[in-house]
Amino acid sequence: MAELSLPAVASRVFTSCKKCDAERYHIVLAHTNATSAKVECEVCHSKKTYKLPSAKGTKSTGVKKVTGAAATKKAQAAENRKNAHSREFGELVASAQSDEQNYTMKTKFAQNDKIKHPKFGVGVIKVSLQDKIEVIFEDQVRMLVHNRV
Ligand SMILES: [Zn+2]
Repeated sequence: MAELSLPAVASRVFTSCKKCDAERYHIVLAHTNATSAKVECEVCHSKKTYKLPSAKGTKSTGVKKVTGAAATKKAQAAENRKNAHSREFGELVASAQSDEQNYTMKTKFAQNDKIKHPKFGVGVIKVSLQDKIEVIFEDQVRMLVHNRV
């Protein structure tokens, strides 16, 4: 997308003049910053700051919205993933070997251990590595640290 830029110094911009109370040509004297410049009315010679229209208003047009069938398909896929996750979580919790252990990063956990995380709730270790564990929680799978001494 083309960025709005100020007219060059010494060129003229057509903008309203408060003193003349009309639209007048103004000469660009200097750029104050990237979006504003000092300009002088050609008629009454009063000076004012000319500002580019805010870039915010021009950006919204580029956003593509997913609609119709594509959106339905996407929602359906998300729903399927969620269901598959819930099913896996339920199965793993049911088959977990141990009672819930409170999660701390210093404890060493093994695969199939059931943990209780203060923020994420009950989880089951899917994979246990040297210092990381992959834990399935009710909402999603997370990588956590463990075995930190
Ligand atoms: Zn003027």
